[in-house]
This record gives sequence, C-alpha cells and structure tokens, in this order.
Amino acid sequence: MRLQDTYRHKGMRKKLVEVLRSKNIQSESVLNAIGSIPRHWFLDQAFEEWAYKNVAFPIGSEQTISHPYTVAFQTELLGIEKGMKILEIGTGSGYQASVLSFLGAKVYSIERQQNLFDKTSKFLPQIGFQRIRTFHGDGYKGLPRFAPFDRILVTAGAINIPKSLASQLKIDGYMIIPVGDEETQEMIKVTRIAEGDYQTERFGSFSFVPFLSGTDTL
Ligand code: SAH
Repeated sequence: MRLQDTYRHKGMRKKLVEVLRSKNIQSESVLNAIGSIPRHWFLDQAFEEWAYKNVAFPIGSEQTISHPYTVAFQTELLGIEKGMKILEIGTGSGYQASVLSFLGAKVYSIERQQNLFDKTSKFLPQIGFQRIRTFHGDGYKGLPRFAPFDRILVTAGAINIPKSLASQLKIDGYMIIPVGDEETQEMIKVTRIAEGDYQTERFGSFSFVPFLSGTDTL
C-alpha cells in the first residue's frame, strides 16, 4: 500500500516542480529527479498530503526531511555529474540521498541516529536505491576509508566548518554546508583549491536541524 505512486501523487509532484521552478531552481536534471522520485514514500502514510508541499516535515527522532526547495537548492549547488563520489552527512529519511543517486552519483551517507539509520538503510534498497551506501556514525569524522570525495553535502546546521570533512575533499572538489547558530545558517560552499588551501562562498540563509557530534549510541 505504502509504495503506491498514483496519478494524484504524480500530479502533486508536477505542481511541486513548478513551485521550485518559480523559486528559481533552474537545473532540469534536478527538477527531473524531484519530479520522478515519490517523496511521499519517505514520510509516514498518514502524512502523505504533506509530501508535496514545500515544507520541512518531522520524520521521527526529532528530525526532519528537508524542504523540497532546500533539497533542490543544495543539489543544484552540488553540480552533480554521473559517477561523482558524494558524501552526505545526515541520511535522515534518505530522500536527499535518493535524489543524488538518481542523478548518477555514487552516494555514501552517514546518520548518527541508530533508529533512523536502521529504518532508512532497510528502506532504500526496497525502493530501488540499492547502490546508496549508508553508515551509522558521526558525520563530523566523515568516512576517511572512502575519501577523497568529489563533493560533500551536510544536511544539518553546523556551527563551523569541520576540518576533518574539508580534508576529505578532492582538490577542486567542494562541500556544501549550512553554517551558523541554532536558528539560521548561511549556505556555504567550501572549495579545496589546493592541498591545504580552501575558498568559501556564501549562498543565503536557511534553517536546518542541528549538526550534533557523536552518535546516539555512545
Ligand atoms: N538529508 C535528510 C535530512 C535530514 S535532517 C533527508 O533527506 O531526509 C538532518 C539529519 O542529520 C538528521 O537525521 C540528524 O540525525 C543527522 N545528523 C545530525 N548530526 C549528525 C552527525 N554528526 N552525523 C551524522 N548525522 C547527523
């Protein structure tokens, strides 16, 4: 039942894509990914109606699935090309990871909450995203075993730019990370221009759940 994708869902998704377009999301491949992936599958069935509104929504464990606009904005900034290796911090519902995988990226995603990790790592292969590799751990540490990455995406609000993550970027690779206080964060692009040399650019204000250190099982 849960995995139905009806004409009604498709219609709502089409409208969402038009909303994103009107908010200046321009990448056709990003719009196509959002238009193709049934976002309602990532929410509990009772909340299906919410899936295609441009709002953040609780997914349990005090966490949210990001606004569709935020997902679209971060994904557009990432400039994904097929085959790129991407590290996502904050797997949550797995929706953002699915968008990246749909675009042809090799996705590695870390979640600190055990229950979300368990739920999402079981769920993604069920809906066809077998290739997303999920990890339970502390995103601050990244995944040195699989580094370097073409891109790193942080989907929780950080108070600073963790050096451990920046150092896992390829040269010319970059990270998209919201940085600020508890209420608002600035979207920052950190490019590794040489071994120990980074450049930052800013892309406006957003609001994310906090990037916490450690895992919930420690
Ligand atoms: N990308 C998610 C949005 C998740 S909200 C989606 O598409 O649904 C942010 C997520 O980051 C939450 O699930 C939260 O538990 C996780 N998180 C916060 N701090 C973390 C850390 N240090 N390491 C890994 N995940 C973290």
